[in-house]
Amino acid sequence: MAYSPYLLKGQKALVTGASSGIGEAIARSLASSGASVVVNYHSEAEAAHKIVNDIQAANGEAIAIQADVSKEEEVKAMFSKTLQHFGTIDILVNNAGLQKDSPFVDMTLEQWNAVIGINLTGQFLCAREAAKEFLRRGVQPQISSAAGKIICISSVHEVIPWSGHVNYAASKGGINMMMRSIAQELAPHKIRVNSIAPGAIKTPINQSAWDTPQAEAKLLQLIPAKRVGEVEDIGKVAVWLASDDSDYVNGATLFVDGGMTLYPGFTANG
Ligand code: NAD
Repeated sequence: MAYSPYLLKGQKALVTGASSGIGEAIARSLASSGASVVVNYHSEAEAAHKIVNDIQAANGEAIAIQADVSKEEEVKAMFSKTLQHFGTIDILVNNAGLQKDSPFVDMTLEQWNAVIGINLTGQFLCAREAAKEFLRRGVQPQISSAAGKIICISSVHEVIPWSGHVNYAASKGGINMMMRSIAQELAPHKIRVNSIAPGAIKTPINQSAWDTPQAEAKLLQLIPAKRVGEVEDIGKVAVWLASDDSDYVNGATLFVDGGMTLYPGFTANG
């Protein structure tokens, strides 16, 4: 896709968990659309710096900042560094997430807390810091019609129950009500909060589900569009949600899933 380098010109974005997968694609897509980007990473410093270098080589602006999104002090420090470097922030993409799968009765409290802490509490901590800056600064009409945009990366598992992944599904279900409640509270301040709920996208998080022909064939039974998604499918939607083209979209979850949430088991059945 050809991105317009003017669409997000002058805007400052922070993408969490941007050293791989969907976060990386979103960081690159926002940069291609003219935004200056903070590439947050947890442990993959080399990958994060390569993404920053690539963006700079294409005449974009980017920096990498290390932080664990589940730790309040690290999140606060990441936002202070962002504001020091870029002066403000216009777009937050809450993307960092992981899975720690287990049959329910064997799931440890540690596995539960780790997933809720990063996938849900991490989104809360980052959204709160971004919202404080959006409220402080307000709308700059020459930059955007919004005082700020928050995009939460959820999952089809905010609505599809997932046995063996109770912690993950609970974290994504939590994102739905957190996102909509923040959207309701902040819309009067011209802050837009929305989610993208990906279906199966080829990234490291779910590699075993698509990296052999047998696994891919099984996965495709769940996808009416009959293809596994690519990270760019999410990057494009994130750019739209971050731009003024979606100015009247508040508190929405966009399912980008090739129809996975359309109950494909009911095709010619039931
Ligand atoms: P990924 O493993 O490539 O990306 C997750 C990123 O989060 C990694 O870069 C990882 O380093 C980072 N991260 C993990 N813990 C962190 C922490 N404590 N602090 C900061 N960063 C941390 O996988 P992905 O598929 O790109 O996942 C990105 C998001 O998309 C996740 O929220 C995931 O739940 C969601 N998602 C993915 C799919 C899919 O099919 N790939 C489907 C639905 C939702």
